[in-house]
Amino acid sequence: MMTESDVLIVGAGGAGLSGGLMLARSRRKVTILDGGQPRNALASHMHGFLSRDGWSPLALISSGRAEVESYGATVESTQALSVAPIDSGFELTLASGDLHRTRRLLVTTGLRDELPSIPGLAAHWGCGVAHCPYCDGWEARDSRIAVIATEPGSVHQAQLLRQLSDRITYFTEATQLSETDRNGLRVRGIEIVVTRIARVIADGRMLAGLELEDGSRRPFDTVFVRPKAIPNDALLKQLGAAMQTRPDGQDWVVVDTNGRTSIAGVWAAGNVVNAAATVPVSAAAGSMAGTAINADLVAEDIAAAVR
Ligand SMILES: Cc1cc2nc3c(=O)[nH]c(=O)nc-3n(C[C@H](O)[C@H](O)[C@H](O)COP(=O)(O)OP(=O)(O)OC[C@H]3O[C@@H](n4cnc5c(N)ncnc54)[C@H](O)[C@@H]3O)c2cc1C
Repeated sequence: MMTESDVLIVGAGGAGLSGGLMLARSRRKVTILDGGQPRNALASHMHGFLSRDGWSPLALISSGRAEVESYGATVESTQALSVAPIDSGFELTLASGDLHRTRRLLVTTGLRDELPSIPGLAAHWGCGVAHCPYCDGWEARDSRIAVIATEPGSVHQAQLLRQLSDRITYFTEATQLSETDRNGLRVRGIEIVVTRIARVIADGRMLAGLELEDGSRRPFDTVFVRPKAIPNDALLKQLGAAMQTRPDGQDWVVVDTNGRTSIAGVWAAGNVVNAAATVPVSAAAGSMAGTAINADLVAEDIAAAVR
C-alpha cells in the first residue's frame, strides 16, 4: 500500500509530536510513525518539564499524541526501515512493507543508551539507576549516591550531584582520573573508590547497593552512570546527511538551529542529534523544526503558484 503526506515524521516522542503539532496546526498533511520505545519509557516519572513535572513519560506521549491527532495528524505504530530520495521528496519503506511518500521528512528517532556491562545494572535502569542530575538528582537528594565512571565527563556528573547530597562515592572503574579532577573530588568530600564493581545488589526489586570485586558490599540508594549514547540515525545516514565527530568520539548528524540537515528537505530534532536534550529541549527543537518545515513548504507552494 502507498500513502502520502506533506510531512512524514519518524518518531513520536517529545520532539516528533511537537513538530507534528506545529505542522498539523498549519493544516499540513502529517503522518507520524512510531516504534513505541521512547528513551525514558522505563522511568516512572519525568522531571524538569515546567507544568508537567512528575508526569509519567508515557502519559505525556499519549496526551501529546491525542493532541496532534485532534488537529488531523495521523500517528501509526510502525517502524520506518529505509528511505530513498524521489523527485517529489522521499519514499520510505515501513516495517509492514507499505510505502510512504512525503514532500518533507523530520527524523526524531531518539537514541539508545548503552550501559556498562555490570551485572544487575540494566535491570534497575530508570528505577534506582539514573544518568541525569537534572532529571533524577532532586529525588536522590541527601541520600547515598554511587557514581560509576564511564568516561572523564563522569567527574562532572559527580560534581553536579554533590550539589544535592554530601554522600557521594565515585567509582573510577577503568577510567583515568587527572590530578585536577582527583583534587576536585577530594576537596568536595567525594569518596574515590578504585576497586572494580562486581555487580549491583538488590533487596527484592529495589536497588540496595554495589558488590565490589574484593567481595565487599557497599549500600547505596541511587547509582548514577553515563551510558554511551548511540543515535538512532540510520535513516539520516542512508540519505548521506553530513556528520561531525563530537567529543564523545562518535559521529553525529549536523543540524542548524532549526534542525535542518545538509540534505534538502530533511530535518532532525531531539536526541537523535543532541544527546543532552531533555524532554522540554527535544520538544522545543521539534517545534522549531516543524515551523521551519512549514515555512519551507510555503516557499515551495509560492514558487509552484508563480510557475
Ligand atoms: C531513564 C531516563 C530518565 C529520563 N528522565 C528524564 C526526565 O525526568 N526529564 C527529562 O526531561 N528527560 C528525561 N530523560 C531524557 C528523555 O528520555 C529524552 O530527553 C527524550 O526522550 C528525547 O525525546 P525524543 O523525542 O528525541 O526521543 P524519544 O522520546 O526517545 O522518542 C523517539 C521515538 O522514535 C521511535 N523510533 C526510533 N526509530 C524509529 C523508526 N525507525 N521508525 C519509527 N519510530 C522510530 C522510538 O520508538 C521512540 O518512540 C530521561 C532519559 C532516561 C533514559
